[in-house]
Amino acid sequence: MVLLFGNFISSGNIEAVLMTNTTEATGFIRNSLYTLWYIIPMLILTIGICYLHNKQPYNLKFTLFCAVASLLISIGFVAYKQYIHYNNENTLLIFFRGRILNRPPYNMFFQTRNLIHNRTLRKYIKEGDNMNFGATRTDTIEQNEIYVLAIGESMTYDNLSLTGYHRITTPNLDTISNLVLYEDYYAGAYLTHYSVPQIITRATAHTYDISYKEKGLTSVFHEAEFHSVVIANRDNTLGDKYCRYLNRDADEIFIAKSDKEITTIFDSISTKHKKLFCILHFWGCHGFYNNYEPEFDIFRPNINSDPNVKSDSLYYNAYDNTILYQDYLLSCIINQINTLNTISTLVFLPDHGESVTETGGLHAGNCIPERKEYHVPLVIWYSNEYKNKFHQKIENLYKHSKEPINSDNIFYSVCDEAEIQIKSEYQLANYSIFSDSIQPHKRYVIVPDGVSVVEVK
Ligand SMILES: [Zn+2]
Repeated sequence: MVLLFGNFISSGNIEAVLMTNTTEATGFIRNSLYTLWYIIPMLILTIGICYLHNKQPYNLKFTLFCAVASLLISIGFVAYKQYIHYNNENTLLIFFRGRILNRPPYNMFFQTRNLIHNRTLRKYIKEGDNMNFGATRTDTIEQNEIYVLAIGESMTYDNLSLTGYHRITTPNLDTISNLVLYEDYYAGAYLTHYSVPQIITRATAHTYDISYKEKGLTSVFHEAEFHSVVIANRDNTLGDKYCRYLNRDADEIFIAKSDKEITTIFDSISTKHKKLFCILHFWGCHGFYNNYEPEFDIFRPNINSDPNVKSDSLYYNAYDNTILYQDYLLSCIINQINTLNTISTLVFLPDHGESVTETGGLHAGNCIPERKEYHVPLVIWYSNEYKNKFHQKIENLYKHSKEPINSDNIFYSVCDEAEIQIKSEYQLANYSIFSDSIQPHKRYVIVPDGVSVVEVK
């Protein structure tokens, strides 16, 4: 883990292994075999030193001196590093978890305990099955409506030409009209299975258990008499049988073999329903950055087409190709909706970002969040018909586009854009980016140990 991802094993890493699929596992093996060349000599050296050490006469005083000296030096080093990194703003709890419990040998116990704790939250799924949001619409709208929530994967804010990147990676989003970019949006975690539930339910980093105890957006729209649909890539969370509770009350769930198939399924259902709500879950820019068709192999050399070329850019170029492809797929969805002349919006956001390096991605990194891992683009497109019907909401949407928000805002915004009200006990109206004013709030992320929550500014 240290060689590959720069971190010690965490609860989120173990969870990711338990929930992995063939696409992810194949990519991992293909890209990680080189680490054996480091590990095997280290193992031989360690065994050799232990063997020679056992042959030496035992000196208790010297051994105790070495043990105490190493302990004091390591505590001093960690405290100094911690002081430099956090400038005294860190809490004792985060220090203790981040620097002691998340490191060997304590991490094996601590991370297994966290994993078991998170797995036991599944007992709340039954409780959630019995709740409802009391979702209603005050306005009777005669026209057809389509609301799409498109969730991407591992796309960091900095690599889109839409956000000012030096390469043209989003040629379609750059030129499509009626598009609003939110510049200061943060994900609620940087591992998929902690971040996606925070997008589609009321759960936040501090209240992650709500994703089990309550239903999500598919239920809200179902109650409000929409045809509620999920179309998920079979390799990602919403396409996973283990996570089906996140799609509760969906009228239809489609599992797509590829991201391209998500768009073809969407095309086929988009004309069939007068009132349609659709969650799309892409494989997107997920490591190891090979999710694109040959015509999007623009940035070269890259790890997929030129694995034997010596270059520091192999992963950076492949990653940018995946963004090109995601941009193309989003344009397909928007163009399809646009042909139907309906009251419509498309909200796009990735589950989290990614810190790309010369040797691959680091989004599952250590428990100190990097900005690239949680600062992601939030993009909202709307049809002219939507603007005509809800011109005040569109004005509000532009008004808030520079305000600091995070995934806590998404659930309420998606309800509000479709003019859906829910019971007051579930409502936080001023968390909607379509409302007159947004209530400022602190932003947090769940780090990969699955229990620690860190404020991000
Ligand atoms: Zn993810």
